[in-house]
Amino acid sequence: MALFDDLGDIVKRNEPLAPYTFLKLGGPVEMLVQPRTREQLSTVVQRCFDDGIPLRVLGTGCNLLVRDEGVSGVVLRLTEPAFTQIAVQGKTVRAGTGAAVQSLISVAARNNLAGLETLVGIPGTVGGALRTNAGDRTGDIGQFVRRVEVLDSAGTPQFRERDELRFENRATNLDDPVLLTVEFGLDPDQPDAILKRMRKAWIQRKAAQPLGYQAAGRVFKNPRGLQAATLLEQAGLARTKVGGAEVSDRDSNYIVVHPGATSRDVLRLMDLMKSRVQERFGVELEREITVW
Ligand SMILES: Cc1cc2nc3c(=O)[nH]c(=O)nc-3n(C[C@H](O)[C@H](O)[C@H](O)COP(=O)(O)OP(=O)(O)OC[C@H]3O[C@@H](n4cnc5c(N)ncnc54)[C@H](O)[C@@H]3O)c2cc1C
Repeated sequence: MALFDDLGDIVKRNEPLAPYTFLKLGGPVEMLVQPRTREQLSTVVQRCFDDGIPLRVLGTGCNLLVRDEGVSGVVLRLTEPAFTQIAVQGKTVRAGTGAAVQSLISVAARNNLAGLETLVGIPGTVGGALRTNAGDRTGDIGQFVRRVEVLDSAGTPQFRERDELRFENRATNLDDPVLLTVEFGLDPDQPDAILKRMRKAWIQRKAAQPLGYQAAGRVFKNPRGLQAATLLEQAGLARTKVGGAEVSDRDSNYIVVHPGATSRDVLRLMDLMKSRVQERFGVELEREITVW
């Protein structure tokens, strides 16, 4: 019997990953697994660990480029209710990492809890936002995290407490294979004040992002004290194209993907952007987007 045959319809073999990502690019994964329960999830992680099978977790693929050749091993999706619940107790919000960041923000705001509203307009799941410490100059998700429940590489649940956690520029030291739930500590505030900050953040973010109908990805981290978008724009890269991949004209730190584009086009455009900024300004841009 092949590995995971006993798990039935939660496993899809040779499943194309492109439809599960924002850029809609890239090849298939050997096994896409969507567990329904925490027990199924632990079983999958344990077997991957025991058999040395590569294991990755997919959120909504907003920060992800899958190579054209696809990936080996297992990709997990935590889309079932066991992984998407959000609960409020006093000033604490507890969320499954499969929940959408935007649902988390709504629940917090409805309960007059402040902090997360400045993340409005950032697409993706709580798990993806945590792993990438999503945010911007006005704040990031990491600053509100109290503790995170993870599965370690043997599939055993563990808690990572605030004092062990580090959140930096679009990065964290949370390197366990699966992030499961997270607790946020928030402060009560007036509904009007929360709504006002949310509106302001929304307007600012939407003004910079590529248009809603475009498949697009944010590419580089902001170097310390600098804006990647500004460097890329000043290097004359806006609207530069490689194959079907193009630097957005609204914000040069986004790549927009046109019909017929491949992941190879995006990777080549990223190399060009990086080398042009290095030549012009002597600044080495670091990739923000995850490449599988
Ligand atoms: C239009 C647009 C605008 C954006 N604006 C911003 C912005 O303003 N600020 C910002 O910081 N980012 C921004 N991003 C990037 C992106 O929205 C965030 O990084 C987002 O939080 C990623 O979530 P996701 O669920 O799509 O993660 P994915 O892209 O699916 O995954 C990202 C990484 O997280 C890992 N991961 C996801 N879930 C889990 C889990 N449960 N356990 C372990 N690992 C996990 C994946 O393995 C991968 O390494 C933007 C992206 C787009 C396309």
